[in-house]
Amino acid sequence: MFSTIILHVLASPFLPLTFVLLLVWGVYRLQRKFKRDERARIEALWRDQRNDIEPGSKSSGPVLEKKCPDCAEMVKADARICRFCRHEF
Ligand SMILES: [Zn+2]
Repeated sequence: MFSTIILHVLASPFLPLTFVLLLVWGVYRLQRKFKRDERARIEALWRDQRNDIEPGSKSSGPVLEKKCPDCAEMVKADARICRFCRHEF
């Protein structure tokens, strides 16, 4: 059944047109698939980020840290005074 379709297409005087149409259709299908995959990936990323933020601190979001230049301890990025050595940033 499939081979008869191929024979029909091969015998067709519109072979180049058919080929181009198939190509365009294939590219269109591929694009739609890629877009769907990309959106799913981004949504999964957002879900992961929300899950990361929720369990710990509700207000501050993900905890960013910086290194104190005096004592080399890690303190929160928003801190103005080091909690270990009282160094002022
Ligand atoms: Zn310090």
